[in-house]
Amino acid sequence: MDITFTPDEERFRARAREWIEANKPSDPPVENDLEARRDFDLAWQSRMYEAGWAGISWPKEYGGRGASLMEQLIWYEEFASAGAHEPSTLFVGLNHGGPTLIACGSEAQKSFHLPRILRGETVWCQGFSEPGAGSDLGSLSTRAVIDGDDLVVTGQKIWTSFANIAEFQELLVRTDPDAPKHKGISWVICPMDAKGIDIRPIRSMAGHQDFCEVFYDEVRIPRANVVGQINDGWRVAMSTLGFERGTAFLSEQVRLTRMVGELIELAKLTPLGGAAASAGDRATRTIDDADIGRRLALMRAEVEALRSMTYRSVSRTARTGVPSSEASLIRIFFSELQQRVHALAMEILGPQILEWDADEQPVTTSLGAKRRRIRETWVFRWLLSFASTIAAGSKDIQRNIIGERVLGLPR
Ligand SMILES: Cc1cc2nc3c(=O)[nH]c(=O)nc-3n(C[C@H](O)[C@H](O)[C@H](O)COP(=O)(O)OP(=O)(O)OC[C@H]3O[C@@H](n4cnc5c(N)ncnc54)[C@H](O)[C@@H]3O)c2cc1C
Repeated sequence: MDITFTPDEERFRARAREWIEANKPSDPPVENDLEARRDFDLAWQSRMYEAGWAGISWPKEYGGRGASLMEQLIWYEEFASAGAHEPSTLFVGLNHGGPTLIACGSEAQKSFHLPRILRGETVWCQGFSEPGAGSDLGSLSTRAVIDGDDLVVTGQKIWTSFANIAEFQELLVRTDPDAPKHKGISWVICPMDAKGIDIRPIRSMAGHQDFCEVFYDEVRIPRANVVGQINDGWRVAMSTLGFERGTAFLSEQVRLTRMVGELIELAKLTPLGGAAASAGDRATRTIDDADIGRRLALMRAEVEALRSMTYRSVSRTARTGVPSSEASLIRIFFSELQQRVHALAMEILGPQILEWDADEQPVTTSLGAKRRRIRETWVFRWLLSFASTIAAGSKDIQRNIIGERVLGLPR
């Protein structure tokens, strides 16, 4: 493993740090205002594009930065260390849809969509999961019948993040019901304003409506929107999923490192037994509790271990050109650690977390309100953290991959 950076890489780091510090936007909108988040993310993306920092991993010929793996790692590290806003509503376009078009799209598809994604003009969503097909994605049953120059799509998707604010969707449909299940699937670009699409937001327990059910009733999509060949969608989809476990994930880890730091600060400020317990006596600070102190110290060590594992994995991929099979191991360690960090935050805050109400407007003024805001932020993040061992392949599926591909166990 080589985790020393070359002088060129250090210069790249300095340039990235300087630009991010000078340009990162302040005051992102609240999580629950999806339209405002969309506008904010598009404007931020556009600013990165103008300065040549958009599409850090995309090849230069498609308008990206064409950065090496180590430069990507440095960029994401600097981005997250600076606390720069993550344009999360643009995740699918930048990390799935765009890269898939680069790998498998036609020239017409590339020249229409890629510049719009990079310039911050379109939002994409991912229509893969269905009520009967999540982990076992190959079982999907939304069907598409070929009718002249169109595909006619009927069926249902679920958990489609940002379907309600997206222009386009990467949609998996079954085009040959008689073929073996992984063979009869096609990958299609679906315009979200097509006639016959009904989008119904799902309210999560954290109170936001980031994901939706999407219903298709004889939706006509031009056949020219199929990416790759008809019935070759599984191969196309696998190239999409591969991107999700790349270097972009590092910024989440750096964010988690920051959160552990914030948690330590929270434990210094919060009296043992939670915010409601008697304040003022330094001996009762939560940080002074031996068990809590030990767990916080362990978490700080664990986020550092996580970063070393990622460096090792990226360094190996840079050397061999083959994505490391340890990615699932890192992913599962990260998502479980993230949940433990947030669960510990709830222990530190104590019973007052029960006052949290997802429907209340956030408050930002006065000291008391500031304390409440800190509490709300931790509760909100804790509720969101439950999803981290499900999204992008559940922890059980990751364990299966580790068993088979890392440990060499039988299926
Ligand atoms: C925050 C979030 C955002 C998401 N965004 C999107 C999106 O934008 N687009 C999209 O298409 N999907 C999205 N998803 C859906 C996600 O991909 C699925 O939830 C995930 O693949 C699991 O599928 P499932 O929910 O159908 O659970 P199931 O596959 O039904 O699994 C249920 C349980 O059984 C376990 N299990 C299933 N199969 C096995 C097995 N072979 N071995 C061991 N255990 C197994 C699972 O681990 C899980 O605990 C999102 C999910 C979340 C949480």
